[in-house]
Amino acid sequence: MATSRDLLAQVKAQITEISTEEAQRRLDQSLVLDVREPDEYEQGAIPGALHIPRGHLESQVEGKVPDHATPIIAQCASGFRSAFAAKTLQDLGYTNVVNMAGGFNRWKDEGRPWKAPRTLTPEQRNRYHRHLLLPEVDVAGQQKLLDSKVLLLGAGGLGSPAALYLAAAGVGTIGIIDMDVVDESNLQRQILHNLDRVGDRKVDSAKKTLTAMNPDVDVVTYDVRLGADNILDIIDGYDVIVDGTDNFPTRYLVNDASLLKRIPVVHGSIFRFEGQATVFNPYVGPCYRCMIPEPPPAELAPSCAEAGVLGVLPGIIGSLQAMEAIKLLLGLGDPLVGRLLAYDALEESFRTFKVHRDPECPACGDNAGPIVIAEYDELCMPHPKEAPPS
Ligand SMILES: [Zn+2]
Repeated sequence: MATSRDLLAQVKAQITEISTEEAQRRLDQSLVLDVREPDEYEQGAIPGALHIPRGHLESQVEGKVPDHATPIIAQCASGFRSAFAAKTLQDLGYTNVVNMAGGFNRWKDEGRPWKAPRTLTPEQRNRYHRHLLLPEVDVAGQQKLLDSKVLLLGAGGLGSPAALYLAAAGVGTIGIIDMDVVDESNLQRQILHNLDRVGDRKVDSAKKTLTAMNPDVDVVTYDVRLGADNILDIIDGYDVIVDGTDNFPTRYLVNDASLLKRIPVVHGSIFRFEGQATVFNPYVGPCYRCMIPEPPPAELAPSCAEAGVLGVLPGIIGSLQAMEAIKLLLGLGDPLVGRLLAYDALEESFRTFKVHRDPECPACGDNAGPIVIAEYDELCMPHPKEAPPS
């Protein structure tokens, strides 16, 4: 029977080893794969290393490193476990794998750069367990969500489900702008609020609901009217805007400001039994003005306050908006960029329409002039007033 020493010798004969010095030289072009146990990794690791404990290597590595030609430096504490890991990677078809002799202990002893990686608390591991089971999210993705900032325009029909799901998913900062108070007639669809909050500011009610659900979330409230005078300051620093506003002037305002700040907007709208959602990714896909260059005439655009809407409908569209926001934050899948998803509740059908970027778009087109953030009047028709002093 072979001893572990014999096995190691056999494996080492079949892999390439490099020194810590050489590994540091290759850091820019290589992926460091740390195969130690979680408690070892949490004590300190090579910055940027991908952590897959040896016991999960076979089951997880192909999900996390799909390209078999990726240059990989396998690394453990001493170079022993990672030697076996390097052999396994070769057997899995990875063609450019080396083992770092001496492991992290030597690396650290030699004074090479390392840091204690940010990790989730036990409570967070439990709360986000179903996210962590997805290799596409995992600890790194969850931390990304916790570091993310999403701004919700409106704490109403669309904003309610979007805010609830974003908070539940652990989006660390959720900004909410709304200047209304909770009215009993809101409760038919605005599920952030409840009877006890009737008469309260909507942003305060929203904050109570969200923080009661997930204490990880910092809810930043803006109890103001969104206007040309404040929009650039308010949206600054947010990663994604979820637009649940219900009128054309605000949508144009949001569009122009988000182009200036290059912040993607997840757009949603609802009317009676129908809803729509799409993503405007500045200068990557079409913008709102590409899709709707001019608002429909007033007689065809019923005032938002008067239009009927079936109660569940905003739940569906707002949830789609939350999903698109999370996909954007994590770089997952195909966002609804250049596609308009239309939902018909009576037919119970979804259809997708292509939306093209308009080269002649006055806001994002090739010959568009500088973007002016202008004030519009209160009707559902934009009438640019003078631009605010910039
Ligand atoms: Zn455009």
